Amino acid sequence: MAKQEDNFKNVISHAKEYGYVFQSSEIYDGLSAVYDYAQNGVELKKNIREYWWKAMVQMNDNIVGLDSAIFMHPTTWKASGHVDAFNDPLIDNKDSKKRYRADVLIEDHVAKIEAKIEKEVSKAAKRFGDDFDQEQFEATNPRVLRYKEESSAIVKRMASSLEKEDLADVKQLIEELGIACPLSGSKNWTDVKQFNLMFGTKLGASADSAMDLYLRPETAQGIFVNFLNVQKTGRMKIPFGIAQVGKAFRNEIVARQFIFRMREFEQMEMQFFIQPGTQAEWYETWKEKRMKWHLSLGIDAENYRFHDHEKLAHYADAAADIEFKFPFGIKELEGIHSRTDFDLRRHEEFSGKKLQYFDPETQENYVPYVIETSIGLDRMFLAVFSNSLQEETLENGSTRTVLKLPAVLAPTKVAVLPLVKKDGLPELANRLLEELQWDFNVTYDEKDAVGRRYRRQDAVGTPFCVTVDHQSLEDQTVTLRYRDSMEQIRIPMSEVAAKVAQEVDMKYWLQKMK
Ligand code: ATP
Repeated sequence: MAKQEDNFKNVISHAKEYGYVFQSSEIYDGLSAVYDYAQNGVELKKNIREYWWKAMVQMNDNIVGLDSAIFMHPTTWKASGHVDAFNDPLIDNKDSKKRYRADVLIEDHVAKIEAKIEKEVSKAAKRFGDDFDQEQFEATNPRVLRYKEESSAIVKRMASSLEKEDLADVKQLIEELGIACPLSGSKNWTDVKQFNLMFGTKLGASADSAMDLYLRPETAQGIFVNFLNVQKTGRMKIPFGIAQVGKAFRNEIVARQFIFRMREFEQMEMQFFIQPGTQAEWYETWKEKRMKWHLSLGIDAENYRFHDHEKLAHYADAAADIEFKFPFGIKELEGIHSRTDFDLRRHEEFSGKKLQYFDPETQENYVPYVIETSIGLDRMFLAVFSNSLQEETLENGSTRTVLKLPAVLAPTKVAVLPLVKKDGLPELANRLLEELQWDFNVTYDEKDAVGRRYRRQDAVGTPFCVTVDHQSLEDQTVTLRYRDSMEQIRIPMSEVAAKVAQEVDMKYWLQKMK
């Protein structure tokens, strides 16, 4: 656990030190769960956004984009269910005065039981060596079976109490399990209460005529209310999708996990409109496609897993998360939801307008069903960033910190370094820099010994360094150094752009999805 915390602290301080993420309004001691993206962060975020957009919109001729406003008519949120049902069950500890999400306290308790199972498994794996059959062990070992039974009973009871809004039972469960405040160890709890997560604001000048608005808690509703406009003007035929990237706002309570859970964040969502009855098939298709997108970035597959939801949201008939191994545990990165026709029907009901598709083949009107894929851009940033940050021990015993970002996402692709600050090398290096600038984000560094400059670029995540030396003046060749392998090759200066392009081109990476 201590190691996990240290790793996470490292990630946060590295993100600050290398100009990726700053606390918002830091000079005023910051604003909790709100962050700013700095000079390198903004580039990484832009590249992730573009990588998603290309995969979703450009590569699918039946998916189009949208950029709807953050403010929406307030009835939107009545129709979507957010006014009545976008709540978190909260509980306060009377001694520490800390507030928690009741379901998170219980889930953390379950995670501890699951960790015990893992411990039993790894102990047995060591004991039995190559003969170990994990599946059989988990299905027969009495201790493991007891832990499994215990955790599944807790999850079931919590899901059913939350479903029935039986908050008294949620509190009772916390008490029965002996869950203590992680901060103070106290078990002195208040009742569980529901708390709406939407931020309210007002439109208009005078107090009596002002209209109560919300900052959107998700981008999806902007897509639903525009469904028919897009379908008609784009002459879209079902199945088709609408994709959007934009800010969303939630008054989160448990907000101590850096950019994992923010109060202002960015979502990348896609609603795929389909014929009713085909949802099971499309749900599986999108689960698979989205996982392929993640894996195309070359991050080890063992970091990802699907988690099927036990407790379904009011709008869904199936839902799964793509979970990722973050530095503080395995958590949700993306949601894939089969939302039925809930949203469009509710908007029909509340607006009095028809939101139906006319099928030219069957000559029938219907309200389409929807499969949604929804990923937090900031969470994706954290997944990529934390996974890329590594401490390496080199052959000579020294260590280096290296940010092994997928080259396609790296903020700066090339650093151009004159070996020394004289003899015409800076001039030649600058000529190369200017040439490369047409294609990539590049940087120039002439300060300190070249070894130290390499280390700086390793730590900030630049995949290529090009060094211009005295030989370059004579034969127009340079040294190209790879960040990850530290391999160096000598190539003609005129070939640098093409060589780098090959490795950072989105096309090359996205092709792995096929
Ligand atoms: P969680 O259970 O972690 O609160 P959620 O199930 O409420 O997430 P959704 O409403 O399904 O999340 O939102 C879709 C995606 O948006 C999530 O998978 C996540 O990547 C991202 N997201 C949601 N809330 C936040 C937040 N507060 N900060 C950053 N990203 C978020």
